[in-house]
Amino acid sequence: KGPDPDLVEIEERMKSVKHKILVLSGKGGVGKSTFSSQLSFALAMNTEEQVGLLDIDICGPSIPKIMGLEGEVIHISGQGWDPVYVEDNLAVMSVGFLLDKEEDAVIWRGPKKNGLIKQFLKDVYWNELDYLVVDTPPGTSDEHLSIVQYLKTSNIDGAVIITSPQDVALIDVRKEINFCKKVGVPIIGVVENMSGFVCPKCNKESQIFIPTTGGAEQMSKDMNVPFLGRIPIDPLIARSCDEGKSYLISHPDSEATKQYNIVFNSK
Ligand code: ADP
Repeated sequence: KGPDPDLVEIEERMKSVKHKILVLSGKGGVGKSTFSSQLSFALAMNTEEQVGLLDIDICGPSIPKIMGLEGEVIHISGQGWDPVYVEDNLAVMSVGFLLDKEEDAVIWRGPKKNGLIKQFLKDVYWNELDYLVVDTPPGTSDEHLSIVQYLKTSNIDGAVIITSPQDVALIDVRKEINFCKKVGVPIIGVVENMSGFVCPKCNKESQIFIPTTGGAEQMSKDMNVPFLGRIPIDPLIARSCDEGKSYLISHPDSEATKQYNIVFNSK
């Protein structure tokens, strides 16, 4: 039996993508898609670099809205499926572009999801990319196994794991770290999102979540993986996402932007 022809095609397509970064989270709602989008915006601020953002959160794609691309659809050309462009150097692909209505949920079984991920990797015409950021569903599911298998572990630069400071989120992050170790995906590091809130009136920082085990930094130390930093809660982050705008560009001097930049520059 020869090699899987799909995998051969994926390998061929991915030859023009220099770096592949997975964004993971143990739980939903901790800010993974927000992070993926801001990372993509940040990378694309260097106009010399070509950036792609692939959303494989098939059951809950939020990337089209966050990137300001609601209602866009995919066009098929001779080269494959054309992604939707935010800027000349920032392209996006999401299952959200395949749904007729935004509220249409996709309730698909594993094999169908895997089929779509295969197709995304095989058929999307990214052209040359410096970075492909992959926003994955929460947890460790079929989609994660598929992406790791299809991209081949050796071709993935690494994973960034997003968590909130809450213990329940941290417990799931440990599972995520173990998954990466098991399948051999290098861990770029852990980011603690929604980490504290600075009151705009009195400028005092409050902790919204009270971790009992010492938070993501301690857990990263315990599990021997890099800790990249913490992003505070800023309601303007949520608003920028709702408006489909880059928070980093809209609020260049904010505390959260400072922290995002520390995280982005840490590797
Ligand atoms: P996930 O992808 O992990 O499910 P999202 O990125 O969709 O999570 O974020 C969940 C919600 O929290 C969204 O409404 C988002 O705008 C908001 N959010 C994410 N990070 C922050 C933050 N640091 N400050 C304020 N709101 C945030």
